[in-house]
Amino acid sequence: MTTLALENLEMTYGNGVRAVAGLDLTVAHGELMVLLGPSGSGKTTTLRLIAGLIRPAAGDVLFDGQTMLDVPPERRGVVMVFQQNTLFPFRTVGENIEFGLRMRKTDRQDRQTRVGDALAAVQLSGFEDRWPDELSGGQKQRVALARALVVRPELLLLDEPLSSLEPALRAEMRDTITHLQREIGITTVLVTHDQLEAVAMADRIALMIDGRIRQVGSPLEFFERPADADVARFFAGSNLIPGDERRER
Ligand code: ADP
Ligand code: MG
Repeated sequence: MTTLALENLEMTYGNGVRAVAGLDLTVAHGELMVLLGPSGSGKTTTLRLIAGLIRPAAGDVLFDGQTMLDVPPERRGVVMVFQQNTLFPFRTVGENIEFGLRMRKTDRQDRQTRVGDALAAVQLSGFEDRWPDELSGGQKQRVALARALVVRPELLLLDEPLSSLEPALRAEMRDTITHLQREIGITTVLVTHDQLEAVAMADRIALMIDGRIRQVGSPLEFFERPADADVARFFAGSNLIPGDERRER
């Protein structure tokens, strides 16, 4: 497992947009941190910096206290699940999940076992030979999750994994993710713009506005002690009942 630390991160794109502006954040071993913020606040950019897909202009990305700046993405032990479905359309479900293991030269027997285990974990046992276009949106997201977890990453990054799903499927997938995350105990950063989703899933929430983290705390702390008027306003946008579902389980 991995502790993640982001220290004074800066990222300005070529067009001059300062997407991440002096960002500090730490995520504990096995924690599910929800990075919450409005569209354009820099959430996806932050995940890309953690994964090593882009390099910060300044600041540091540390895993267990070690800087990752010179470590290429494939060596970081990080997997990122994107908002849109990114399964390979001309590979079966089994081949999609197995892909990362082939890249790592895992032997055939081991691959089969691990693909079966990964499918079981997302409640899709027996789906190995299906094609992506035979699956519902929710099933595709489950396969994407299985494909991420099969390589046993140290750190899981989820970019709005529920936003492309119909409302009816969202709660189900939300539970799949939180249960699986707790069971495996993997350090996770989940991005969303949806307060309700954040409150339902997070150990802690980091609220991001304009490239900065404005407040970090438990869902309850956001209701009881919002750091400032912007934070309070962002939360007031929805009719939420304060509570902490995860603690009660
Ligand atoms: P979020 O995920 O919170 O919606 P992003 O990290 O995608 O926010 O974007 C933050 C800001 O950076 C936005 O203003 C966006 O337009 C800009 N941005 C994102 N990606 C790029 C890019 N590849 N090139 C230029 N600007 C970008
Ligand atoms: Mg985004």
